[in-house]
Amino acid sequence: MDNDPVDTGSPERGDVQPDWDETYDVVVVGAGTGLFAAMAAADAGLKVLLVEKSASFGGSAAMSAGIIWMPGNAVLQEAATGDTRESAESYLDHLVGESAPRERRLSFLEHAPAAVDFLRRSTPLKFMHIPGHPDHHEDLDGASVIGRAIEAKPFNMASLGADRKRVRASDVKAPVPMPITSVDYKWLVLLGRAPWQAVPHAVWRLIQGLGGKLIGRDVVAAGQALVAGLLTGVREAEVDTWRTSPLLDLVTEGDGITGAVVERGGCRIRVRAGRGVILAGGGFENNPVMRRKYQSVALQDGWSVNARENTGDVIRIAERHGAALSAMDQSWWSLGLPPVKEGGTPTFMLAERSQPGSIIVDATGRRFFNESCDHMTAGQIMLGQRGADAVHVPSWLVFDQKYRNRHIFGGQFLPGLPLPRSWYRAGLAHRAATVEALAEQLSMPGLVEGVARFNLLAARGHDDDFGRGDSAHDRYWGDPTNTPNPNLRPLTTAPFHAVQVVPGDFGTCGGITTDGYGRALRGDGSVIDGLYAIGNCAANAFGNTSPQFGATLGLGLTFGWVAARHAASQPVDA
Ligand SMILES: Cc1cc2nc3c(=O)[nH]c(=O)nc-3n(C[C@H](O)[C@H](O)[C@H](O)COP(=O)(O)OP(=O)(O)OC[C@H]3O[C@@H](n4cnc5c(N)ncnc54)[C@H](O)[C@@H]3O)c2cc1C
Repeated sequence: MDNDPVDTGSPERGDVQPDWDETYDVVVVGAGTGLFAAMAAADAGLKVLLVEKSASFGGSAAMSAGIIWMPGNAVLQEAATGDTRESAESYLDHLVGESAPRERRLSFLEHAPAAVDFLRRSTPLKFMHIPGHPDHHEDLDGASVIGRAIEAKPFNMASLGADRKRVRASDVKAPVPMPITSVDYKWLVLLGRAPWQAVPHAVWRLIQGLGGKLIGRDVVAAGQALVAGLLTGVREAEVDTWRTSPLLDLVTEGDGITGAVVERGGCRIRVRAGRGVILAGGGFENNPVMRRKYQSVALQDGWSVNARENTGDVIRIAERHGAALSAMDQSWWSLGLPPVKEGGTPTFMLAERSQPGSIIVDATGRRFFNESCDHMTAGQIMLGQRGADAVHVPSWLVFDQKYRNRHIFGGQFLPGLPLPRSWYRAGLAHRAATVEALAEQLSMPGLVEGVARFNLLAARGHDDDFGRGDSAHDRYWGDPTNTPNPNLRPLTTAPFHAVQVVPGDFGTCGGITTDGYGRALRGDGSVIDGLYAIGNCAANAFGNTSPQFGATLGLGLTFGWVAARHAASQPVDA
């Protein structure tokens, strides 16, 4: 049952009582990928409490595109992708190398298929392969060009009843109610260019979404569907859930963790967790002090698209109880437009930096990387994390009117329509009749030369400078009707536009150091009994890399399953 916050009458705020107020086998902290860990623990016969800081379920997972990267799973086999454990292992070995312990990725590969099996049998969700959504680094042995990403099919959230309103809303919404899967999105951004592909997707989703509303259905896709399905599973597994109930502290007895201190209804409640506490409280993306300490002074608050509640609480609490931290300089970087005003939401860019007729330039007006590269690499380059590169914050996405006429921008602004005035007022967007005038507005002496150089290469169809369009990843987000290179076209049609670009993220991915079972480790490598960390509060098992877009959910779900089963296999502490 979902327990709304109540005043339990005891104890008073600030008092930590010596005795337990509640007794469970496992306490899961955070209702993003933690929902899945809670289900898995309950499935193993444990009595489970899930505590969540916010008033809603789902965290960033509910706001996400819901793409999941878990190699070797049955959905991939059924789609005849030919994916094998061996090829995924080779890919990860080449990609991750020494940047994270091998034990973690081997555990991920071993358990991901079983976790997907459990996801399918314990939720009402149906999953599909995302065809042609390639791994980020196709040049590495074992990379898949046909892709290993899967996503949930649209799901009728009305089946949740009262819980429907408790699923965290997404910041990105279609102008009319319609479920948009990742497969749909790829084509919808090309509505003006490939209507024969885009229109059938749009019509079918409109029937499901708008039409469904008329008969009382609420059909959603992406992260909304994933979380609605997980919440259904949580309810069926009879996990107790406390919303608006943040973890405040852990309880240490002897060498291990035996419980959690949770704020509920204004009180501090001590909850015994006989088999362990699974931390799934997200990263520290919205903690500016931690970000500046561990990552970069160039980062500003509000650039992350993830849930605002993710302020690194559980990482700091675990550290106080002896957990080591690693990979703290890393996030699941992505590029985006900063919020127009304080407290606003950033606009992230997916296809925008891959479509032809655009470039990204630094403050001098010159290109400095392959704009279409994967999101992790793009953020690292912009922040100067790759070699001795300079920091390029902010940068500018420069494009011509033809680009604007052809493509949806920021996931929501239809082709041809002007960009919001507030962007211009805030100095985040500029527009001019010539490249020279734009260069002057932006005080970018090199822009004219930079555009001229790019135009020359684009006209020839090959980016000799940075190889944009050379990989399947680049081309996936490009415009297939633009030949010979779906990512390259000269900027020729006035007016010319510039929109500010900064390194945002889909969450930080440095955090608690864990082993192959998701158990928290101390600095000397010893295990903290009874403490697990999964999702973004755990250090990225892929080190400073991202193998594919769905890796973050893939890791959270897999290690949620692994940690829950490990906890279930432990003797109950007396
Ligand atoms: C727009 C967008 C698109 C994305 N697309 C994808 C995608 O397609 N594929 C992918 O793999 N990833 C994607 N991501 C990233 C992904 O959603 C997150 O990285 C992932 O959800 C992380 O899982 P998590 O469980 O660690 O954190 P979250 O899902 O954020 O859940 C953490 C939860 O912990 C709660 N919490 C925080 N502190 C406490 C506390 N003290 N006590 C109790 N609870 C606490 C938070 O309120 C939150 O509900 C996307 C993210 C966004 C925003």
